Amino acid sequence: MTTKPAELSLRFHGTGSGGHPALGAAAATLEKAGNPRLLIDCGPGTLAAFNDSYEQLPPALFITHCHMDHIADLEILSVRAHLAGTAPIPMYVPLTLLPTLHQRVATYPGTLAEGGHDFWRSFQLIPVTDEFLFEGQIFRIYPTRHHAPGSSYALHAANQFFYSGDTRPIPEILHHRLQGGEVIFHDCGLTPNPSHTGLDDLTREYQPGILSRLVLYHYANSDAGDALANAGYTVARPNQVFALKALDR
Ligand SMILES: [Zn+2]
Repeated sequence: MTTKPAELSLRFHGTGSGGHPALGAAAATLEKAGNPRLLIDCGPGTLAAFNDSYEQLPPALFITHCHMDHIADLEILSVRAHLAGTAPIPMYVPLTLLPTLHQRVATYPGTLAEGGHDFWRSFQLIPVTDEFLFEGQIFRIYPTRHHAPGSSYALHAANQFFYSGDTRPIPEILHHRLQGGEVIFHDCGLTPNPSHTGLDDLTREYQPGILSRLVLYHYANSDAGDALANAGYTVARPNQVFALKALDR
């Protein structure tokens, strides 16, 4: 007897750049049968959006990089998890991010005024080099092009999805590492800059078979999102859910 794989989906909480007040900070949750399994990034407002959708704390997290619009809510998550008495929450973090992540969110003295708590007690830290196993699935990570080398990572589940994190175009990864069935969630604004992808980059850098699978996020405002959509691309909106391919294995 074969068991049908749980239906996978990815829900965006925020889709904006720089923690845009209306679009929210870019973050998304991998769902199985509609249940939250893995939150990708935790910027300002992500916890509130997550709670609006699921009425719980995240059961596990992956962090793409250490800009505050991707990690700012981690401190309050640490406190809430402590007060709720939850078991340490698995947090998958690319190895090279650890010094910066620790310095930015975990060094404040006396995380809780009442004492008896520090940041990492709420989490089960799992450093990641090339890949990690999560609920029976292999997730690979790739360093992307966002500020210093090795400071920002994409997340990839073969034949299911690719989540770029913040990055310039990465054709060397998308053209050579994907299996063919992935939905590709990709950083993209209207105008390119040294740290992010822009609309004109896409057709220059990517083959048509990649372009048709893109879902764009991390844009400046809703007008920019509309312009990307008018250019023919699928654009993620806050709280939108995308079905992912679940392969029989
Ligand atoms: Zn960033």
